[in-house]
Parts: sequence; structure tokens; C-alpha cells
Amino acid sequence: MTSLSDLPLRESLRGREPYGAPQLSVPVALNVNENTHELPEDVIKDIVKRVGAVAHGINRYPDREFEGLRKALANYLGHNLDTNQIWAANGSNEVLQQIFQAFGGPGRLALGFGPTYSMYSLIALGADTQYVDADRDERYELTPDLIRSAIAEHKPNIVMLCSPNNPTGTPLSLECIEAAYDATDGIVVVDEAYAEFANESQTAISLLPGRPRLLISRTMSKAFAFAGARVGYLAADPAVVDAMRLVRLPYHLSAFTQAAAEAALDHADALLATVADIRVQRDRIVDELRTMGFDPYRSDSNFVLFGGVSDPARTFTELLARGVLVRNVGIPNTLRVTAGTEAETSAFLKALAELQAN
Ligand SMILES: *Cc1c(COP(=O)(O)O)cnc(C)c1O
Repeated sequence: MTSLSDLPLRESLRGREPYGAPQLSVPVALNVNENTHELPEDVIKDIVKRVGAVAHGINRYPDREFEGLRKALANYLGHNLDTNQIWAANGSNEVLQQIFQAFGGPGRLALGFGPTYSMYSLIALGADTQYVDADRDERYELTPDLIRSAIAEHKPNIVMLCSPNNPTGTPLSLECIEAAYDATDGIVVVDEAYAEFANESQTAISLLPGRPRLLISRTMSKAFAFAGARVGYLAADPAVVDAMRLVRLPYHLSAFTQAAAEAALDHADALLATVADIRVQRDRIVDELRTMGFDPYRSDSNFVLFGGVSDPARTFTELLARGVLVRNVGIPNTLRVTAGTEAETSAFLKALAELQAN
């Protein structure tokens, strides 16, 4: 049998592991920070109708500039953004990949602040870009000083700021983003995948005027409950959007994707109606875990990282045996759990309490 090492693989990919959060069929899946609420029936009906309508023209290539979708996204984001400041792709992971294709590459370096989103280093690898994680403080918080000194030390071409941060949930201040921008001549990417859940972290969109190297990445995968559709997007200077056009594959957003996303955005209020309850469940997780003697980190997102887990691999397996899937992100003595519906959250807390009692 042929194995990877038999192939003339790029040297930098040898021995590397692909992204691999387990995809298991369990009653309570709280491992990849999806919005676990189902879409309202009338929204589903509208999506199906709009996707059905474009099926008639599916023999032709889709609108390469996805004008309708970009307009809808600009409208959703507000802040007087213009359509020519918006870009989109198949998930924000693809947006990030395009950013690295345009602004990274051999001899260039990207800087993140770990622990952070595991895809940054993998996307950097695929784009032959060196990647370094600088440290956060002991509670995973960032300060303008920490950011400035890491940028001074590493001189990155791309700075990755995750706001709020995954997997720790940590909020990020606009002061931190401004400090990063002022400290580098490179690209500053603010990944706002969880922005809609934030109480404290403010969107960096207000910082865009006069900052052409500032890129804000967003997604419909989390708050919008649209992970399966694969829609991520970017707000930035129109020149950055031109850079994306250089590296995107022609017609990368299918007509079905465009139609489904436009339909979903027409129902933004209905889809985001669950966000308030998810925040309540997140805060409830923090409170109850603390009462149980765990050490939850403060979260501005729809998940909670908690310490005080003596054997994360074992707790993960024992929760799974009770039908609850959480995430072991590899930070010692921690696990991460997504805030689900009230029932799912209760199931998680109950299962964990049972383990503690044993
Ligand atoms: C989930 C997540 C994304 C979203 O990825 P998509 O490709 O849009 O589904 C992006 N960034 C972070 C930090 C995430 O956690």
C-alpha cells in the first residue's frame, strides 16, 4: 500500500497532520462551536426556493463577482461599508487562505498569539509561509504592549488577531488592534468569526477608514447557524479586495452558495435570534463550572475553555460515553465546550457532574 511518505510530497508537508476535529454522530455535539439551534422552517423554505430558482441557470457559470451577495453582506455589516470593500469565499478559512496566498509566501512570516485558531498555522504551511505564535499572558489575555513587543521581535508580514480568540474565548480590545496596526507595515487580520456573540470585544470595522492594511474576516458558520453552507467574508480596503481577485479561482462561489447565503441574509434577524440565548448558556456554563470547582476562562464567544481537568483525554472519553462530545484542544488540564441549546447545555453539565461524583 502506498503511504504519504512514498509520494514526492512537498518537504514542508512531511509528517504533518491535517485538521481533524472528530465528526461523530452523538446526541449532544458541542465540539466545533456551531450554532446548534436548527433554522426556522420559514427560513429553510425561502432558502430552498431561492436555490431552486438558480438551478434553472446552473448550466452557466455563476456571477464571478457575486455582486448580490457582497451587497447583502455590506448591508448586514453596516458602518457605511461599500460593496467594493467586501469579499467572500467558501468559509472564512478560504478567505484566510486567499489572504495568505496574496500576502504570505516563501520568505514571509505570519505572527499569531497562541493558543489560537489551529488553522492559522496550517494555512500558513499550505502557502509556504513561516508561522510563529507569540505568548499571551497567563489568563490568555493580550495587551497593546504584548502585541507591540512581539511584532518588534518577529517583524511579521501578516499579524493574526482572533477577536474573540478561539479556543480560549478571550476578548480583544480595539486598542490592541490599533497597536498592532501601528507597529507593523504588514497586513493585520482580525478574525471576527465569533463577533456576534461578543459583549466586550468590539468589531474592528470602525477602524477601517484610513487603514488599508487592516482586514476583517467574518463567517456565517457560527452565529448565523450556516456552517454547512460554507460562507465566510472579508471587509477591507477595495485594494485588498483586488488582491483577493488575483488569487481566487474563477467562479469560486457557486450559484447555489450565493443564492442560499443571500436568502439567509434576508432573514438575518430570525437567524441571529438565538444568539441571546446562547450567550445566556455560555454565562451559565462559566458560573456552573466555577461552582463545580473548575477554572473557566472568561469568554466573549459561544464556547468556554475550562481548566482544572486533571485528565482531559479521560474526561473527554467519559463524556462521549454519555453522549456528549466536547473538544480537547491539547492545552494541558483543559477542555473546551460549545454553548448549545439550554437542553444540550444541561446535558453537558449533568454528565460532567456525574463524572465528578464517581
Ligand atoms: C470556526 C472559525 C472560523 C470559521 O471557519 P469557516 O471556514 O468560516 O467555517 C474562522 N476562524 C475561527 C477562529 C473559527 O473558530
